[in-house]
Amino acid sequence: MARYTGPVCRLCRREGLKLYLKGDKCYTDKCPVSRRNYAPGQHGQSRKKVTEYGLQLREKQKVRRFYGIQESQMRSYFNMADKMPGITGQNLLKLLELRLDNVIYRMGFASSRAEARQLVRHGHFTVNGNKVDIPSYLVQVGDVIEVRERSKSSPKFKELIENHRGNTVSWIEVSPDQFKGRIVAEPTREDIEIPIEEHLIVELYSK
Ligand code: SF4
Repeated sequence: MARYTGPVCRLCRREGLKLYLKGDKCYTDKCPVSRRNYAPGQHGQSRKKVTEYGLQLREKQKVRRFYGIQESQMRSYFNMADKMPGITGQNLLKLLELRLDNVIYRMGFASSRAEARQLVRHGHFTVNGNKVDIPSYLVQVGDVIEVRERSKSSPKFKELIENHRGNTVSWIEVSPDQFKGRIVAEPTREDIEIPIEEHLIVELYSK
């Protein structure tokens, strides 16, 4: 599946906020959003009238880029969210949060979602004891996610565990010294830190 391979900081500048796509650099003053907070390109600083559709589109793109997913995947998450009980926009965000690559990132076992996706694809993790190498795998409450036995001794994971930043979200109980984490609750709307008006995405897909 085609994936964006250009400079990722452009994506943050286009959305006008930090999407945390580059790992440690995002937390330093080298972040381009802090230094040049306007859209990239020749017309990046010009003022444009934003239409209602434009607002909805930007909100959807922001979420897609934050989680690193393709349009077709986003559409299927929306269809799933729409069929679930509750508020569609919140269901959509919950589904995205429950993706295995996002969970690995939230557990602090990768510095970005892109890195988490690659680590999952390379088969470094198990879910409830079974190897899972599908980044879009949806975890459930009670699932135990663990680094595979043979990967625990790799320099990559040793370094990640040594520099582990502790629990990042309340819905995952992380034990870095045991290389594992457990999903203790479903993520709530408050757990998603970037400003998203998810109702705009629902409006866009409901047209
Ligand atoms: Fe680049 Fe990270 Fe800053 Fe985004 S938040 S512009 S990815 S350094």
